[in-house]
Amino acid sequence: MTDSDNPNRAIAQALNSWRQAGLDQMPQYSPSMEANIGQAEQVAAAPSPAAETTPDAAAQAPLVTEPAPNTTPHSSLLTPHSETAPMTDNNLIESSDPVEALAMLQKRVAQCCLCKVLPETRTQTVFGVGNPRARLLFLGEAPGADEDAQGIPFVGRSGRLLTDMIEKGMKISRDEVYICNVLRCRPPQNRNPLPEEAAFCRPFMEAQIRIVNPEFICCLGAVAAKNLLQTDTSIGKLRGTIHNWQGYKVVCTYHPSYLLRNPPAKKDAWIDLQLLMRAMGLM
Ligand code: SF4
Repeated sequence: MTDSDNPNRAIAQALNSWRQAGLDQMPQYSPSMEANIGQAEQVAAAPSPAAETTPDAAAQAPLVTEPAPNTTPHSSLLTPHSETAPMTDNNLIESSDPVEALAMLQKRVAQCCLCKVLPETRTQTVFGVGNPRARLLFLGEAPGADEDAQGIPFVGRSGRLLTDMIEKGMKISRDEVYICNVLRCRPPQNRNPLPEEAAFCRPFMEAQIRIVNPEFICCLGAVAAKNLLQTDTSIGKLRGTIHNWQGYKVVCTYHPSYLLRNPPAKKDAWIDLQLLMRAMGLM
């Protein structure tokens, strides 16, 4: 068995590497994360999808062409979860100012070589983009080819669909939300992140989330949802509920790349966005 085949050993090695890099205050981490620890607490059972809309109605309300009416001023999204991002003992957060803290963290990420393969195969790191005080943060999986080339998350076909989901579906500007991934480097051939890669990059992800301090997180796809919530539960079962992860309200839906491959699933994603919008007071 190789190290990559043994998640616990990989996680332990990740922790050691972080400590050797002087980052010994790992945020909420456990070597047993791959053993399905810390099941996400489900704090609010959402109405069943069937109660949201009938299949026919869903089919008639495709994700990007028939959004629900928005009665809330868009400027409400600019309201941060709290006035000041919480200062934690995470030593990756070097400033109480989100703009400054993100810039400093981005510099660290740009020099990161913790993963075995990714630093050699990436064109550049892909940090995050958007409002540093966003009320809503979208969490994806990892950069793809377009993102790797441009250094910005969600700029390819999937990114255009995500933009439509945000702007045509939710009726808010993409600039008002924050977007980042589980990984900050593109995996070769767009393969899924390895457990140790997700473990290495998790402190960056957690620091980004804490700096932006959104009220809501929308996980895009199984990789994002399972990594954030540290669960093996399928994305299908994670949908339809608002989860609580360390005080953040989390909604899970399908990744835009999956929606591109499976257009019928767009109606389910639209149901998820409606759940999110209702929770945010946007509809
Ligand atoms: S994926 Fe994350 S942890 Fe791995 S090399 Fe890139 S920035 Fe570092």
